[in-house]
Amino acid sequence: MLNRRHFVASVVGLAALAAGGDAFAESKGLIGISMPTKSSTRWISDGESMVKEFTALGYEADLQYGEDDIPNQLAQIENMVTKGAKVLIIAAIDGSTLSDILKKAKEAGVKVFAYDRLITKTPDVDYYTTFDNFGVGVLQAQSLVQGLKERFAGVKPWNVELFGGSPDDTNAFYFYNGAMSVLQPMIDAGEIAVVSGQMGMDKVGTLRWDGAVAQARMDNLLSANYTDKKVNGVLAPYDGLSRGIISSLKGVGYAPGPEMPIVTGQDAELASVKGMIAGEQYSTVFKDTRELAKVTAKMVDTVLQGKEPEVNDTKTYNNEVKVVPSYLLTPHSVGKDDIKKALVESGYYTQEQVDG
Ligand code: BGC
Repeated sequence: MLNRRHFVASVVGLAALAAGGDAFAESKGLIGISMPTKSSTRWISDGESMVKEFTALGYEADLQYGEDDIPNQLAQIENMVTKGAKVLIIAAIDGSTLSDILKKAKEAGVKVFAYDRLITKTPDVDYYTTFDNFGVGVLQAQSLVQGLKERFAGVKPWNVELFGGSPDDTNAFYFYNGAMSVLQPMIDAGEIAVVSGQMGMDKVGTLRWDGAVAQARMDNLLSANYTDKKVNGVLAPYDGLSRGIISSLKGVGYAPGPEMPIVTGQDAELASVKGMIAGEQYSTVFKDTRELAKVTAKMVDTVLQGKEPEVNDTKTYNNEVKVVPSYLLTPHSVGKDDIKKALVESGYYTQEQVDG
């Protein structure tokens, strides 16, 4: 008769064997992985990649999705601590809501990694692995300007509307500030006009990164400001918002071609990659979630060996209690012509997925 420990060990052993590891090794411990939602495909890739990485390193992984429900995510994390997780890897739904549970985790000796999204208002977060989030915003704005120059060469000023991400996710501010570091001087110089006048995260933020909310806001912007004007560009910080915005644009008659506004994005979601091929979305920002998972797993393994992991940023990410030592990866701007090289040749998608 197998007891639980042996059962877990043999499941882990089989997984380790499948991943090319030592089938007879005991699990090196439980890793709790708390992701925010499955509604965006990037988090599914993050989760799958992390389970693969940790299994290959000989750990047991508990992967849970909070489905954008804060109490649900808290309960899942609490459960991971109860089950004896050695490390928590958390992409928070709302980065400011975890202080109590992380205090308990710290008391139980659990190491905490903020994954992609910063965890704020707590001392109990050890490391942060993410991409250069300000850099993401810079790339989005640069690609917006490049698109405006290509498609609307004769237009001045360019009419642009701005969208931000969820105000409970610090990334949204880094993306917006990065983008505005490029756009604000052009607005000041009269090269770009934000016709609605809606600027600043308090005006342009989109709670929970919800595409339907972005679509509704775009509908309002169009009916209130563009009955006698054309919109030339929209800064959109995430593909799910971009698709909502594009639906709204299509609803009032914009179609792929010379009048289609330049719409940016992020995450290289398959639906948006197809939208880029169809001439609807102009660009996206590709953040290789496989790399983020790999770097995170390696850092976790180092920490669990009692060593200091390598970080490459110790000054940017102040969580209102401390500056969290961070490892930042590089984001990449992807336009229609870059899809094959960046997304297919790298193995992120197959050609069939992109064409299908
Ligand atoms: C991530 C983005 C993602 C957004 C919505 C952010 O925290 O950094 O990659 O587009 O959340 O899921």
